Amino acid sequence: MMPPIYEVKQHMRRIAALEEQKGKGAVCASIGPAGEQGVLFANVILGGARPGAAGRAGMGAVMGVKKLKAIVVSGRRRTRIADRQSLLKRIREKSATMKENTKLLTTYGTPFLVNVINAKGMLGTRNNSTEVFAHSQDISGERIKEKYWHKDTACFGCPVACGKNVHVIKGEYAGMTVKMPEYETLYAVGSMLDNRDIDSIINGNHACDLMGIDTISMGVTLSFVAECIEKGIISEKEIGEKVDFADGAAMVSLIKKTARKEGIGALLALGSARLAGKFGKDAYKYLYAVKGLEIAGHSARGLRGMSLSYSTSTRGGSHHDGRPNYAKEDPDPGFTPQPKYIQKSQYFTAVGDSLVLCRFIAERGLGTPLNEEIAKIVGYVTGWDITLAELERIGERIYNLERLINVTRGISRKDDTLPYRVMNEPIPEGPAKGRYCSKADLDALLDTFYALRGWDQNGIPTKEKLTELGLK
Ligand code: SF4
Repeated sequence: MMPPIYEVKQHMRRIAALEEQKGKGAVCASIGPAGEQGVLFANVILGGARPGAAGRAGMGAVMGVKKLKAIVVSGRRRTRIADRQSLLKRIREKSATMKENTKLLTTYGTPFLVNVINAKGMLGTRNNSTEVFAHSQDISGERIKEKYWHKDTACFGCPVACGKNVHVIKGEYAGMTVKMPEYETLYAVGSMLDNRDIDSIINGNHACDLMGIDTISMGVTLSFVAECIEKGIISEKEIGEKVDFADGAAMVSLIKKTARKEGIGALLALGSARLAGKFGKDAYKYLYAVKGLEIAGHSARGLRGMSLSYSTSTRGGSHHDGRPNYAKEDPDPGFTPQPKYIQKSQYFTAVGDSLVLCRFIAERGLGTPLNEEIAKIVGYVTGWDITLAELERIGERIYNLERLINVTRGISRKDDTLPYRVMNEPIPEGPAKGRYCSKADLDALLDTFYALRGWDQNGIPTKEKLTELGLK
C-alpha cells in the first residue's frame, strides 16, 4: 500500500498550485488519498474554471496503482476549425433553443433533477426500497439555490454555466465555499440513505472531493450496508461501526475512513458488490449494482430504457452509456422500443465522448441520438464530409471495441443482468408504481438487442460483425 503523498486537506490546494505553476488556462486532474490507497471507487478530481470529477469505475485507483498522481494540461495554440464561419453561424442560429432548453441547468445546475425525478416516482430512496422521497424538497436544487448558492462556474466559453459553488453553513467544512453536490450525489448520499440533511450532503460531497472518491459508489455502498444491518444480514459488531439510514452526521467520518481504509473503511473501500459476496446470506437481494458498479440515479426499474441500458453498459451501472429519456417514458412506453433506442443512445454517448462533447449541450442543443445536426457540426470542425450513417458506424465500432475488451475479461450474457430488486420487486408506490423488469422481460430485451447488434445469443460480437466493422 502506498503511503499518502499529500495531507488530505491539501488535495484541492495542490490542484490549484499545480495549475498556477503552469500558468493561465492550465487545468489539473489529480487523484486524492483514496486513489493512492487503492479504494476501488477512487476517482479523479478536475480543477479548472468548472471543477468536476471523472467519477465512475475507479479511474483514481488505476492512476494510483500506476503511481500517477496528477496530469496538468496547458497550451496556447488556437484550436483549428476547418469552417469557422459556418460553425459560428450555426451556433448563433441554435443559441436561442439551447438557452431555452438549458434554463434549469443555468439556474440550479443538475440538482434541478431532484424534484423532477421524484415527481415521476423514480428517485431511488432508502437503498431503492422505494422511489418516492418524502423529503425531496429539503435536498433539491431550489433549496440549494435559495440558501447555499455562492456563484456559477462554467467550462471554457460555455454560456450555460451549470456548475455552482456553494457556501458551507454547518458541519466539518463550515465557512468554506465548495463545489456543489450534483444530482447524482444528492441521490446517492441523500435519498438513497434516506438522508434529508442537506448540510451533511454538502459536507459529504466535499469530503469525497478532498479524498478523491466517487460519490455515487460511496453513497450506494453505505445504503447497501445500512439495509444489510437493518435486515440482520450483518451486525454493527461484526463490521465494527454503525452505518445507519438518515444519519448524515456520521458521513464525513465514514468517507475519510474509506479513503484511508481505516477500520470499517477497509470494508467500505471494496464497494457494495464485493461486500455482498463477503456478507453472504441474502445480501445480494439488497445490492443495487451491475457488473460491480453501483447504479446511478436514473431508475433501473422505473425507466424502461435504463433497464436494458444498465444491464448492457460496458461499465456496469453507468448512466452515460445509454441515456435516460424521461420525455419518452411518460406514459409508460413498455419495453418494445427500448433495444433500438438504447443501441442508438450508446452510439451517441460513444461518439460524444470521443469528440469530448458536453453531454448537456449535445442533448439540449443538438438533440439526441446522433443526428444530421451533429454530423454537420463535426464536418464544420474537422473538414470531413461525414454523413450521419458514417458517424453512427463510428459509434458502433467504439461500442463493439469496448464490448470486446469486456469479453476478453470474461463478460458475456450472464453478466448482462440487473439487481435482484429490479427484477423481482415492483416499485411499491407513487406514479411509477408497479414498474420493474422481470428476468423474462430482460431475456427478451437481450435477445432483440443482441440481434440488432450482430452479437450471438451469448452477447459476443460475431466474426461477421467484426469483419463488417473492420475490427477483425
Ligand atoms: S453545460 Fe457542459 S460545458 Fe457548460 S458548464 Fe456545464 S458541463 Fe461545462
